[in-house]
Amino acid sequence: MYSSSLVRKAAKARDYAEQGDRASLISCSVAFRGDNGDHLVTYEAGAWRCDCHTHSMNQDCSHAMAMELMLTDLLPT
Ligand SMILES: [Zn+2]
Repeated sequence: MYSSSLVRKAAKARDYAEQGDRASLISCSVAFRGDNGDHLVTYEAGAWRCDCHTHSMNQDCSHAMAMELMLTDLLPT
Protein backbone atom coordinates (compact mmCIF):
# COMPACT_ATOMS: atom_id res chain seq x y z
CA MET A 1 0.00 0.00 0.00
CA TYR A 2 1.54 3.27 -1.14
CA SER A 3 1.28 6.40 0.95
CA SER A 4 -0.44 9.40 -0.64
CA SER A 5 2.91 11.20 -0.50
CA LEU A 6 4.53 8.51 -2.64
CA VAL A 7 1.62 8.61 -5.09
CA ARG A 8 2.05 12.39 -5.45
CA LYS A 9 5.78 11.97 -6.03
CA ALA A 10 5.16 9.30 -8.68
CA ALA A 11 2.69 11.60 -10.48
CA LYS A 12 5.18 14.47 -10.37
CA ALA A 13 7.90 12.16 -11.71
CA ARG A 14 5.67 11.20 -14.66
CA ASP A 15 5.06 14.91 -15.39
CA TYR A 16 8.80 15.62 -15.23
CA ALA A 17 9.64 12.63 -17.42
CA GLU A 18 7.43 14.05 -20.20
CA GLN A 19 9.33 17.36 -20.14
CA GLY A 20 12.68 16.52 -21.71
CA ASP A 21 13.95 20.09 -21.45
CA ARG A 22 14.17 19.72 -17.67
CA ALA A 23 17.12 17.34 -17.87
CA SER A 24 20.51 17.68 -19.59
CA LEU A 25 23.10 14.96 -19.81
CA ILE A 26 26.41 15.92 -18.15
CA SER A 27 28.31 12.67 -18.36
CA CYS A 28 27.66 8.96 -18.59
CA SER A 29 29.32 5.62 -19.24
CA VAL A 30 27.55 2.89 -21.16
CA ALA A 31 28.41 -0.77 -21.69
CA PHE A 32 27.46 -1.23 -25.35
CA ARG A 33 26.91 -4.69 -26.84
CA GLY A 34 27.95 -4.38 -30.50
CA ASP A 35 27.57 -7.08 -33.15
CA ASN A 36 31.31 -7.81 -33.02
CA GLY A 37 32.04 -7.22 -29.35
CA ASP A 38 31.37 -5.16 -26.26
CA HIS A 39 32.44 -1.52 -26.04
CA LEU A 40 32.59 1.19 -23.42
CA VAL A 41 30.92 4.36 -24.71
CA THR A 42 31.29 7.52 -22.64
CA TYR A 43 29.87 11.03 -22.83
CA GLU A 44 31.87 13.87 -21.31
CA ALA A 45 32.12 17.61 -21.97
CA GLY A 46 29.72 17.42 -24.90
CA ALA A 47 31.51 14.65 -26.77
CA TRP A 48 31.04 10.93 -27.18
CA ARG A 49 33.98 8.56 -26.98
CA CYS A 50 34.21 4.84 -27.57
CA ASP A 51 36.95 2.28 -27.02
CA CYS A 52 36.42 0.61 -30.42
CA HIS A 53 38.93 0.57 -33.26
CA THR A 54 36.90 2.91 -35.49
CA HIS A 55 36.72 5.59 -32.82
CA SER A 56 40.44 5.23 -32.06
CA MET A 57 41.03 6.30 -35.70
CA ASN A 58 39.23 9.57 -34.88
CA GLN A 59 36.18 8.53 -36.87
CA ASP A 60 32.56 8.47 -35.77
CA CYS A 61 31.54 4.96 -34.82
CA SER A 62 28.13 3.33 -34.88
CA HIS A 63 28.19 2.71 -31.11
CA ALA A 64 28.56 6.38 -30.14
CA MET A 65 26.13 7.40 -32.89
CA ALA A 66 23.56 4.91 -31.57
CA MET A 67 23.90 6.32 -28.04
CA GLU A 68 23.41 9.82 -29.41
CA LEU A 69 20.17 8.68 -31.03
CA MET A 70 19.00 6.89 -27.87
CA LEU A 71 19.64 9.89 -25.64
CA THR A 72 18.83 12.66 -28.09
CA ASP A 73 16.26 14.25 -25.77
CA LEU A 74 18.84 14.58 -22.98
CA LEU A 75 21.70 16.06 -25.01
CA PRO A 76 22.25 19.82 -24.74
CA THR A 77 21.31 21.63 -27.94
ZN1 LIG B 1 32.57 2.47 -31.16
